[in-house]
Amino acid sequence: MTDAANPPEGTNPLTPVLTRRWLSPRSWTLHTYEQLEGYSALRTALSAHPDQLIELVKAAGLRGRGGAGFPAGVKWGFMPKEPSKPHYLVINADEGEPGTCKDVPLMMADPHSLIEGCVIAAYAMRAHHCMIYVRGEALHCVRRLHQAVREAYESGYLGRDILGSGFDLDVVVHAGAGAYICGEETALLDSLEGKRGQPRLKPPFPAQAGLYACPTTVNNVETIASVPYVVNGGSDWFRTMGREKSPGPKIYSLSGHVENPGQYEAPLGTTLRELLELAGGMKDGVPLKFWTPGGSSTPLLTADHLDVPLDFEGATEAGTMLGTTALMIFNETVSVPWAVMKWTQFYEHESCGKCTPCREGCFWLAQVLERMVDGRGTEEDIDTLLDVCDNILGRSFCALGDGAVSPITSGIKYFRDEFLALCERNRSTETADTALVGA
Ligand code: NAD
Ligand code: SF4
Repeated sequence: MTDAANPPEGTNPLTPVLTRRWLSPRSWTLHTYEQLEGYSALRTALSAHPDQLIELVKAAGLRGRGGAGFPAGVKWGFMPKEPSKPHYLVINADEGEPGTCKDVPLMMADPHSLIEGCVIAAYAMRAHHCMIYVRGEALHCVRRLHQAVREAYESGYLGRDILGSGFDLDVVVHAGAGAYICGEETALLDSLEGKRGQPRLKPPFPAQAGLYACPTTVNNVETIASVPYVVNGGSDWFRTMGREKSPGPKIYSLSGHVENPGQYEAPLGTTLRELLELAGGMKDGVPLKFWTPGGSSTPLLTADHLDVPLDFEGATEAGTMLGTTALMIFNETVSVPWAVMKWTQFYEHESCGKCTPCREGCFWLAQVLERMVDGRGTEEDIDTLLDVCDNILGRSFCALGDGAVSPITSGIKYFRDEFLALCERNRSTETADTALVGA
């Protein structure tokens, strides 16, 4: 393993790591990747014992970048050490959370960093099969991955006896069919098995019974693409970025009313104020009203939260979650109830229907919100919304239900007046109608 004091050439703790090749000419080709130290971590990793790699990733404190932040090394450590069944590594590339656009750009710009990470992770977990499950709508990304996987096979980075190490790995790129729920890891596994994608009961967690009931680890794209840098730089170097419990670099995606929307890599714990500076500020200088720290499944924040450190702990302390670090930014021109209604319609559409609280609840939440936004709501509707949310939160089968209520409860918490104003408008219309009837 590389000395921690010697990070990969060309990087330092405050400059981009994961995105460092993105602007190189033809960055997605094996040729460019190899020119820029690509696959050097794999050579190091294959000469180490698999358990050493698991310990390294644990020591680095690399946490899952898909949203939940579960420590990657700990998850790898759940896989049996003596395989009695085939082991699988599954990459969750079904990036579907509203506003999230980090994994697809990463795979488009630098697919070999993901493939190199896959081989290292699979070696550490004694897996000889890896599936990359890509969001079906991102066909351009599926094509790019197919091309990169083919290049990797041809150059001996995949297939039999990788780099003469005796280790074998096959990688299959699989396109989903566009269902949001298939980003939930167990629904994804069902989908890979050819079934309708619906969440499974956990436990058993995938490490015990995953794909085809065999030990499986499901990791996000950005998590696995971080692994080669951990191997090359060492755990101490990785920990020089970010915060103690949330170390390392992170890709934040900014969309909405910002001058330059896009992907911005920064250490975990960076604030929205700092990210806005990188993105050129609010579009046309119109002030910020509300924003999501990690997609619509994370509670909304407001202009009072510009200095919240965007890492797992900082977000939680501010009453929200880091989620997928998809920052959707809205200025003063946007109605909160309208935005909340649009997100709720999304959850209603994407609810898989397996459990009653989410299936029925999301349907009714959308109905009530549509009525309110349409100017036909009453003050009691606010209580109805909160009551239905209360019956979904913590009572649903998977995280989709909990996520669906986040924009509603946080929207009402910070912008109750806007919801009330819609009801007032209805009341004054009703009064006018009554007056007309009376006349
Ligand atoms: P989770 O906390 O249940 O699990 C996270 C991971 O840790 C899983 O892989 C799980 O198997 C593992 N794990 C947790 N506890 C374990 C245990 N005791 N033993 C073994 N393994 C264990 O979260 P989740 O339901 O997988 O994910 C929810 C998150 O997904 C949300 O925070 C949301 O932000 C995110 N999300 C992301 C997208 C996207 O497009 N990237 C879309 C929707 C939701
Ligand atoms: Fe399906 Fe929603 Fe229940 Fe999840 S919470 S299992 S998406 S119905």
